[in-house]
This record gives sequence, C-alpha cells and structure tokens, in this order.
Amino acid sequence: MASHSRVNSQHVSEPALREAAERSYEYLHTMEDRNVAPNAAALAALEHFHEPFPENPSDPVEVVNMLDKFGAPATAATTGGRYFGFVIGGTLPASLAASWLANTWDQNAALRVMAPVAAELEEVVLKWVCEALGLPSDCDGGLVTCATTANFTALATARHALLSRLGWNVAEDGMFGAPPIQVVVGQEVHASVLKALNLAGFGSKRVTVVEADEQGRMRADKLPRLDRSTIVCIQAGNVNSGSFDPAREICLRAREQASWVHVDGAFGLWAAASPKYKDLVAGFELADSWAMDAHKWPNINYDSGIVLVRDAMALRSAMTISAAYLQPGTRREPMHHAPEASRRARGIELWAGLKSLGRSGLANLIERTCAHAQRFAAGLREAGFEILNEVVINQVLVSFGSSERTLEVIRRIQEEGTCWCSGTVWRGRTAMRISVSSWATSSADVERSLAAMLRIARETPA
Ligand SMILES: *Cc1c(COP(=O)(O)O)cnc(C)c1O
Repeated sequence: MASHSRVNSQHVSEPALREAAERSYEYLHTMEDRNVAPNAAALAALEHFHEPFPENPSDPVEVVNMLDKFGAPATAATTGGRYFGFVIGGTLPASLAASWLANTWDQNAALRVMAPVAAELEEVVLKWVCEALGLPSDCDGGLVTCATTANFTALATARHALLSRLGWNVAEDGMFGAPPIQVVVGQEVHASVLKALNLAGFGSKRVTVVEADEQGRMRADKLPRLDRSTIVCIQAGNVNSGSFDPAREICLRAREQASWVHVDGAFGLWAAASPKYKDLVAGFELADSWAMDAHKWPNINYDSGIVLVRDAMALRSAMTISAAYLQPGTRREPMHHAPEASRRARGIELWAGLKSLGRSGLANLIERTCAHAQRFAAGLREAGFEILNEVVINQVLVSFGSSERTLEVIRRIQEEGTCWCSGTVWRGRTAMRISVSSWATSSADVERSLAAMLRIARETPA
C-alpha cells in the first residue's frame, strides 16, 4: 500500500518538476544576456497574476508555465554577475541544487524526530561557521530567516540573561517593572538592530548612541559607563562603508564590567574566513552573541540567517518552548534555539554551499569580491570621480558630483541594465553604493559594468 501511493504521487508530481527544472536551466542560460533590472513590459505583465481566485483547479505544469512566463522576466537578476545593489549574494550551484532536493523532501526542521537530517546538518553547519570565523567552539546558535531576526534572537537572549542575573525572570514576568537595561549602539547602527531592539521591548529611542568616526566606526573612547545591566551593540561591516568597529577594545572594556556585547556582522563577519582579511575581524570573537547572514556574502540561497551565542544555556533558556507533546529529548532540538517553531530546513542548503566551497573556497570568494571592489574604486577614481570610503572589503561608495547628478547617474545606470547599483547617503552626501557580494561576478562582469558606469556618468550633464 505504501509503495503504491508513492508511485502515484511521483507520477503526479514529475511533469511539473521536469518543467520547473527546464525553466530553471533556461533562466540560468539567459542570465548573461538580459538586463539586470526587469524592463517596463515585464513589470506591466505582472498584471496577469491579478485574477479572481480561480473557481477550478489548474494543471501543475500550466501553473509552472504561467509562473515562468510572467514571473521570470520580472525578477531582478541577482544571481547573475552584475548585480551590485544593497548587499545581495547570488546562489551557489550546490546550495541551489540542494534546495531543490530539500524542497522535495519538505522537512519541518522544528524537531529532530520530524527531520533528522535537517537537525543533524544544522549542528554541523553551526560548528563549521564557528570554526571558519574563529568564534568560540562551544557557542550554540540557531538558523533563522535573516540578520534582522538573528539580531532579535540575540538581543532577546541578552535581555533574558542580564535580567536573570539581576534576579528578574523576563520570560515569566515580562518587561514592565523589570530592572532597567542600558542599551548602547553606535551612531552608524544598522536599522535592523533598532527594529530588533524595538521588538524586544527595549524601544529603539531608549538607547545610548555613541559617536562614530569618519569611516562609521564606533569611537571606543566615547563609550558611556558600562555595567552588568548593559548591552553594547557593535558592528562588523558597515552596510555602506564596510568598516569594522574596534571590537577588541570595546569587548575588553565590556568584559571588565560584565556587560553583554552583541555583534551585528550580517556580511562583514565573514571576512574572518579569509587569511588576508581576518585581521579586520580580530576582537569580535570576544563578544557574547553574533548575528549574520548566509544569504549575503557566502551566497547561500534565500533565506538564511544565523545567530550564535557564547552562553549556550542562555540561548536555550530564552528560546525554549514547552508543551506536553514536544517531548524534550537529550539532543539539540532546532526549535529551542530560535524564535520560529516550524520552519524550512535551511541547514541543508547551508551545508551544501559550505561543503562545496570548503575553507579555501570561502576565503577565495571573500578575496575575489574584495579585489573586484578595489578594481571598481580604482577605475572610478582614475576617471575623476570621488570614492567616499576607505575600501576595506567589498563595499564602494562613489559620488558623481552634486547630489542631483549622482542620483541621475544612478537612475540611468539602473535603467540602462548592464548592471544595478543602489543609492545611499553617506555622512550627509548622496552616493552610489557598489556591493560586490556574488560568487558569480567575474572580472569580465566588472569591466563591462565599470565601462557602462563611466560612459553613463560622462553622458550625464553636470
Ligand atoms: C543586511 C544587513 C542587516 C539586515 O539583514 P537582513 O538579512 O535583511 O535582515 C543587518 N545588518 C547589517 C550590517 C546588514 O548589512
């Protein structure tokens, strides 16, 4: 009976899967030639999806066809080599392929008994990440959607741990009436940390803001008095300049006072995987918790965030969920290490991507993308345009003159379609931000994109 029903469902699913695979290959093959941003016609065609909820079923193959026909052209080509907007990684071949398999398995990674392979691979990748980044080997952690959730998980854990040391059980008694916690952030704190603080009940305005230097690094000499009811949020990799806060100095001071240091290392922390860049990250291993994204620099497919906590018990206490039917086993259960219960098995794709790279491949990915960023900076500077940041890793900030002209150049670059970059404001100045985060970017992509940027910039009236 069991084998009979398996044959049946296979029979039903196979044509749609084959269709999806064919359409995927086609998408990958045409990536090179298409504009990075979807054109107006592609965006207008999305209108086809706006129909009343269909009365009757559709054939799965037709569903896939329709999705590909109107969906694929309306994607931003972020998996190609010439997307430099925000901080967006591509998708490594092994992790893309693993996601097909993992989606076929459709495992719920909440509990080991529901998804043994997912629970196991989650443990493996958490260890690998600690090893690769030089973080304490006895850290525990969780796999979450993104750095925002990783920041939230870590800050909720810090809240739980600090209040517990002060004799307050926040899980049971909540935040009202709890001893006050001082939260310290840098002037250049990422907006996601402020959102995480607001979700965790700290209030994004109720923070002490520490001045930053001209690269956006927190000034350690401007830290307020720290104590055992303080959380200090520092940053590895400023989203604009790529700069790193002086972690060693801050962590050592925080340790003396038993404060908690949390690191937002969404992409920058991965620089630790490269022998050439790991000095930038020195000192961050002294912190208490870390948030990062695997979907950025390591190029694991979306979504893939990681939270790590030095005090494994603290994470477990803050994130645990108990019910009679969730029998606590003696082994690690994914759902007790993150806010989510049911979730996709992100560990599978993360394992596949990291396994395919190995330590040298990950280091090479970091170094290659940093070298591409250097090339962009040099090419733009030679042409007379101002680079606003010290290009320490993969982020380049360029001004094309006045704010209006820079915005117009960005608009034209986005419209022209060779490459795609986003705009930002850096220390009061409008800039175009180039983030080289994809494994797929080749030197040819860089030269082609640079030539397009320079041509468009020259054509744009001052
Ligand atoms: C991208 C980024 C985040 C937020 O990441 P999400 O994955 O979008 O939640 C947080 N901090 C820094 C420094 C980032 O670069």
